[in-house]
Amino acid sequence: MDLNVQIFTGTCKNPADLEAGRVVDKLRRILERTKITSGFIGWNVDTDVSEIAALLRDSDADVYLWLPIFSELDVLAEFSPIIGSKNTEVINDRGDDETFNFCCPANPGNVDRAIDIFEKYYSDDIYDGVFIDRIRFPSFFGGKDMVFSCFCEYCRSKYDVPDPSELAALDGENPLGITRYKDLRYEMSGVYQKLFDYKSEAVTRSLERLCDYFRKRGLKIGLDLFAPFLSPFVGQDYRRLLPLADIVKPMFYKATNAPAGLPFEIGAYAAAFDDDREKADRRKALFAGIVGYDDADFVSCEISGIKKIIEDNKLKTKLYAGIELNYTDVSPVTQEYIGRSVTNAQSADGIVTSWDLNTTPDSHIDYLLDIWEQF
Ligand SMILES: [Zn+2]
Repeated sequence: MDLNVQIFTGTCKNPADLEAGRVVDKLRRILERTKITSGFIGWNVDTDVSEIAALLRDSDADVYLWLPIFSELDVLAEFSPIIGSKNTEVINDRGDDETFNFCCPANPGNVDRAIDIFEKYYSDDIYDGVFIDRIRFPSFFGGKDMVFSCFCEYCRSKYDVPDPSELAALDGENPLGITRYKDLRYEMSGVYQKLFDYKSEAVTRSLERLCDYFRKRGLKIGLDLFAPFLSPFVGQDYRRLLPLADIVKPMFYKATNAPAGLPFEIGAYAAAFDDDREKADRRKALFAGIVGYDDADFVSCEISGIKKIIEDNKLKTKLYAGIELNYTDVSPVTQEYIGRSVTNAQSADGIVTSWDLNTTPDSHIDYLLDIWEQF
C-alpha cells in the first residue's frame, strides 16, 4: 500500500500552531522507514511551506496544495450563497475557525471566484497537484434546511430542482424514505432522489470545469470525498467523480466528532428533522441498519464498492482511504483504532494519514510504521 500524508497549515483566517521544523522531523521519522507517495498541504495563505515541500519533493513524493472550494474561501472573496426553501440565505457560522459555511456549488461564478483565489494566493510552482476539498453541498450538520437547498436563481433556472413544498419529511423515522443501499446507491423517495440527483449533477459540472482548469496548468488532481454512504446527500457521485481524479480520498473518519466524521454525520442526519431525541435514536438505528454501518466489514465493503467502479471503467484513479491519525479534542485517536482502520483499508491502494501530521503524536507515527510492513 502507498502511504500519503496530510498537513493542515490553518484556515484562511488563522494559521495553525505549526513549526515547519517539527513537521520536517515527523516526515523524516516516516521517510527513515518507508516511502511517502504524496503530501497534501493547506490551506492557510501566509504559512511558508517551502521547507516541508522541498523535503517531500527530494524524497520523490508529489506535493499537492490542499484547497477547499465551496466553503472557507469566503474569507477572501464574496461568493453567491446557498438559498434555502424559505428563499433566504442558509448560513452556518457558529463562530468557529472553520465555519463549514457553504456557497452554492452549482453557480459557475463561485467556481470562477475559487480559481481567482487560487491564482492570487496559491499558484506557486512548488505544487505537483491540487487536492480539492469541500466540493459538495452542506451535509445535515446545521439542520435539514442546509440539505433541502439550493433554490437560488441559478439553480432554479438551470436545474430541475424539486418544489420546496414537496420536501416535507415523509415518515418520522425514515424521513427520506430510504429502502435500500446497494452498490453505493440509495433507493429512496422520488422527490429526494430528484433533489440529490440535481446536487450530484451540479457538483459534477462544477468539478469538471475546475479540473479542466487545473489540468491545463499541468496539475494533478486529488479529491477529498465523503465516505460513499454519505456522498449522495452532499452531491458527490463516485461514478462521475472518479474519472476526473488521479487520487480520491474517501474520509473514513470513525473517531471524529466533526463534519465528515461518520458517527457525527449519521447523528446529524438523525437529529436534523425535529427535536425529539427518542425519535432521533430510532432514526439513527434504522439508517445504520440499512447501510450496514455496524457491520465489522462496513468500511471494507465501501472500499470494494469504489474499487469495483474503478475496475469496471478501467480507470487509473488511485483509491487512498483517509484515516485519522491526529490526536485532538474532536478526534481522540488511539493506537488500537489506527490498527483497526488500516486493517479495514487494506484492499485500497493506500491510506492518507489524515488530516494533520502536525498534530499526530510521534508514538502514533511509530505505531503505524511498526504495523505498516504487514500491508
Ligand atoms: Zn444555487
